[in-house]
Amino acid sequence: MSQVNSHQQLAVERDCHVHTRLCHHAEGEMAEYVQAALQKGLKGLVFLEHFETGINYFEPTWLNDDDFALYFEQGLRLREEYRGRLEIGLGVEVGYNPGRINEIREFLSRYSWDLIGLSYHYYEHEGRHINMLSHKGQNMAEFSVIGVEKVIGDYLRGLLEGLRQLPVNVVCHLDAALRHHKEVNFKEEHIELIQLILSEIAARGLALEINTSGFVHRGEPYPKKWIIRQALKMGIRTTVGSDAHRPAEVGRYFERLNPWLLQFNNKRDAVTGV
Ligand SMILES: [Zn+2]
Ligand SMILES: [Zn+2]
Repeated sequence: MSQVNSHQQLAVERDCHVHTRLCHHAEGEMAEYVQAALQKGLKGLVFLEHFETGINYFEPTWLNDDDFALYFEQGLRLREEYRGRLEIGLGVEVGYNPGRINEIREFLSRYSWDLIGLSYHYYEHEGRHINMLSHKGQNMAEFSVIGVEKVIGDYLRGLLEGLRQLPVNVVCHLDAALRHHKEVNFKEEHIELIQLILSEIAARGLALEINTSGFVHRGEPYPKKWIIRQALKMGIRTTVGSDAHRPAEVGRYFERLNPWLLQFNNKRDAVTGV
């Protein structure tokens, strides 16, 4: 799948990051997301469902083997049904887990993916995992004890390692670790790590995700503006995703993203779908 927006074609027409009820923490069937995308006037929709392995967390927030089988069965059927009206991609948001690289690679090799996004949700601590992207108070309290700066550093080092070791196309949630934590603060070390990640993305010709769920929380997309500016300056391609967890969120804030991106004027044409 490939789509490069030109100067004439300003609208973002593809939502490259949506979930469904199959991940156990989102709502709605795949078909409902397809309908929502058509209603929004989108030309493309990429499901980017959660894969995690070796995670010891109190609730599953990802698909199991049977869920993925169903995901492909339904997804391939929908792709045929809507051919010519909506380009449907079947992708995966793969959660980095430092001890499970071979297992993750083996899983990825089982299917033919349209897009593989890298994320890193779960931090291992004393044999259990804590969700770094959650806003739940229980997760936040544990991170305060471990140390917020340490966790953010470990998160970014993990993303970099995942990027180096896994066959991914796009990095999701680049600066998302502990974003709901009141003590969050990016230090020099963290900024350097983000720059290393961007360099790795650029060197490998991969993409960075612009996530419009940021408009809900802070009136701007994720990641932070300076990161997007730097990525565009480095010639890094981007994908745009709503991270919808219910059908009504498909393509959310895309109409605000276009004017927001104009501040990067001549780099605007680097914003693409994959
Ligand atoms: Zn999710
Ligand atoms: Zn997601």
